[in-house]
Formats: sequence, C-alpha cells, structure tokens
Amino acid sequence: MYLCGPTVYNYAHIGNARPAVVFDLLARLLRRRYKLTFARNLTDVDDKINAASQETGKPIEEITARFIKAYNDDMGALGVQLPDVEPRATQHIAEMIDMISTLIEKGHAYEAEGHVLFDVESYPEYGALSRRDLREMIAGARVEVAPYKKAPQDFVLWKPSTPELPGWDSPWGRGRPGWHIECSAMARKHLGKTIDIHAGGRDLIFPHHENELAQSRCAHGGAEFARYWVHNGFLSMDSEKMSKSLGNVLLVHDLLKTYPGELIRLALLSAHYKQPLDWSDDTLMSARRMLDRLYGAVRGIEVSAEARAKAQPPAALVAALEDDLNTPRALKEFFELAKSLNKAGDDEQKQQLAAAMYASGDLLGLLQADPEEWFKGDAAGDLTAEQIEALIEKRNAARAAKDFAAADDFRDQLAAAGITIEDSADGTSWRRSG
Ligand code: AMP
Ligand code: ZN
Repeated sequence: MYLCGPTVYNYAHIGNARPAVVFDLLARLLRRRYKLTFARNLTDVDDKINAASQETGKPIEEITARFIKAYNDDMGALGVQLPDVEPRATQHIAEMIDMISTLIEKGHAYEAEGHVLFDVESYPEYGALSRRDLREMIAGARVEVAPYKKAPQDFVLWKPSTPELPGWDSPWGRGRPGWHIECSAMARKHLGKTIDIHAGGRDLIFPHHENELAQSRCAHGGAEFARYWVHNGFLSMDSEKMSKSLGNVLLVHDLLKTYPGELIRLALLSAHYKQPLDWSDDTLMSARRMLDRLYGAVRGIEVSAEARAKAQPPAALVAALEDDLNTPRALKEFFELAKSLNKAGDDEQKQQLAAAMYASGDLLGLLQADPEEWFKGDAAGDLTAEQIEALIEKRNAARAAKDFAAADDFRDQLAAAGITIEDSADGTSWRRSG
C-alpha cells in the first residue's frame, strides 16, 4: 500500500491527520490477513518548502528535519504506527531521473527550455481516474499555461533550478523534480510496478493521482499501476473549509496540548472515511464520552498480558472494518461489547469480555491507556481529578456523619459536572459520564 505523505514545511493540521489515521487503521486491518508492505512518503523537496526557507532564512534541511520529526511525533500521539518504508523524495532523485528518461524515450515526455513535460495527448486514457475529459481540464483553472508547453494540460516532470534553489544535475541541466513524479518513482522503487492499494485524500485524485497513474503506466509499458484507489473525504471546520485565510486551521500539535491523542483519533474515525467530516467542539466532546464509556467498561477488571494477546475482537467488529472500513459500524459493535461487559455477571466472563475489549482497542488503536489513568490523568470538564476526589471525600464524610442532605448535595454537584460515582466495598470510584 502506498499513501501520499506530507510535504514537510509546517505542522500537520487536523485535516492532514485524517488520511494518516484512516489508512493506519487500514494497514492494521490488512496485517491481520496479509503480509503488508506499507510505504508513506515524505515530500522534502517542494516549492512550498523553498518559500518557507526564504521566508524564515532557515536552511531547507533544517526545516524538513524539524517537520518530519514533528509529523511523526504528532501522528504517533494519534496512534499512527510508522509505515514499513518512509521514503524521502530527496533520496530518490536518481530513480526519478531514470523514470523521466524512460518517458522521453517512449515518446510520453519532451524537453523544453530546461523543463521536461509529460505529453498528456500521448496517453489516451488520461482522465480515467478522475473521470474528467481534456476539455474540462483545460477549462479548469488548475492547469498552468506556459509558453514552453505543447499543450496546456501537459504537466512538469522536471524543472530548472536557479543557483539559490535546491537542484540536482540531470540530462536536462541542474534542476528539481515535479511533485507527481516523486510518488511514481518511490512507489516503483519500494513496491514494484503494480501496487495493490494507493491511498490519499480525495483532493489528490486530480491532478496528483491522475498524473502518477499516467507516468507509471507509460513508463512501465502499460502495466497496471494500482489495483485499488482509496480516498478519504475532506474535513471541514464548523461547516467551513479549513484555510489559513479564514484563520481556522487547527494543528494537531496544538490540539494535543489539551486532548489525549486517542480522543482525536476516535473523533477522526467516527465518520466513514469516504464521507466528509465536520469538526467542531462537539466532535471532541462526543469522542470523549465514547472513550469514557469504553474505559468505564474495562475499569477495575484485571486482564493479564497473556489473555490480552490471545483475545480477538468480536467477528462483527472485524467484519464491519472489512466492509470498506466501516468505522461507524465497528464502533457500534465496540459499544455492544462494552454493554455486554457492563452486564456480565461472573468474573471469568468479565475477564473474557474485557480481553476482547482490549483486543478491539489494539486493532483500532484505542484503549491503550490504563483506565484509571484515563479517568484521572486528564481532566477535561470543569473539574480536575483533585477537585472531583475532594468532593467525593466530603460526600463520604457527610454520609458517615449521617448528613444525607449534604451528601446528596455533593453528589449532585458532581453529577452536574458530568461525574458519575459508584460505591463498592473498595470505596467510591468515579467516571465522566458526559
Ligand atoms: P498536503 O500536505 O497538503 O499535501 O496534505 C497531506 C494530506 O492531507 C493529503 O493526503 C491531503 O489529501 C490531506 N488533506 C489536506 N487537507 C485535508 C482536509 N481538510 N481533510 C482531509 N484531508 C486533507
Ligand atoms: Zn503522491
């Protein structure tokens, strides 16, 4: 599987995190059945990186190194596992030059004024992936008209670099690759001519994936490029497009200061990956409630590491995920399991169900924290864990003194803050009920 990764010149926003999380789950799921090689590239040569370097005065390598680390740290906090291969564009320039040379030899590309362009007309199936025809594409504003192009829809494979820009020697002079050829060359190197699954955000279908497809097929004698294309829907903010000019860009890095990574992960998985996802405070609040229910169910039940490793998620949950990654249905199955656990009578049954809860969590990248830590470690509502525990102590003291009115008053205060308490022989435990 190949996933188009980030261009590393700034922090990832919550929209960028959606493909990372969604296709991380797909990778986890595929690994249950198949031997998977998962490549997610890093675009570390790009005009946006050059612009960031000029703006900040910082060397390109410093910018890309910093944001590669930030990306992996932030995605790691969301439970995204590292892919098997993380190819960097700057380490595959020779492969790109090779592929471009092949395209020229085969009559699919031409050189003009230090540029190399893909000749779209030489590939009659162009547009099949995005279901566009040439006229539509030319009419669309996204094709750049330039004097050196034979036709406006032709796109850049290689372009010349001025001395202050990053560049590599090539048969067409010192220059740098276009964005699309990067992915074609890296996919070929690490996964072969034909890949099973090609993934990315739906904004990439045109022109990026259409162009990758054209380049790879034409360079490889018409061999199939990707057996399946999977594209995630877009994330919007309070029904608006997320954009710098609207000032509503939410960085994962910042969100993580307030919310646990699992909560953000669950929020991103709560909608089907193909559907648009509208992000708001409610999205996070409802993810919090869902996780509280899941952690609440396993809380207080000891499950040995051995039992956990042996346990399987419910077949219905796996089946939901295997049905085009139907996460809303899979989560429903997760809650059904939590409900059964809440109702379970004997200890053996409880442990079995709790082990299945953890196995489901391991597949989904959830329930990775200790339940007690989950409830105490991060106070989200208005009350901190200390405040909650202080109120519980007061309430218990009032009860011990048989001042039941005061005890009820403290319980009501807790309930108003969304805290449910439960008395047992071992004392009083609490959870956020939302
Ligand atoms: P970029 O760094 O802009 O190339 O984006 C990296 C990845 O994030 C690509 O797969 C995009 O499709 C995806 N992406 C960017 N913005 C959003 C969004 N608002 N919602 C979902 N995916 C997005
Ligand atoms: Zn790509």
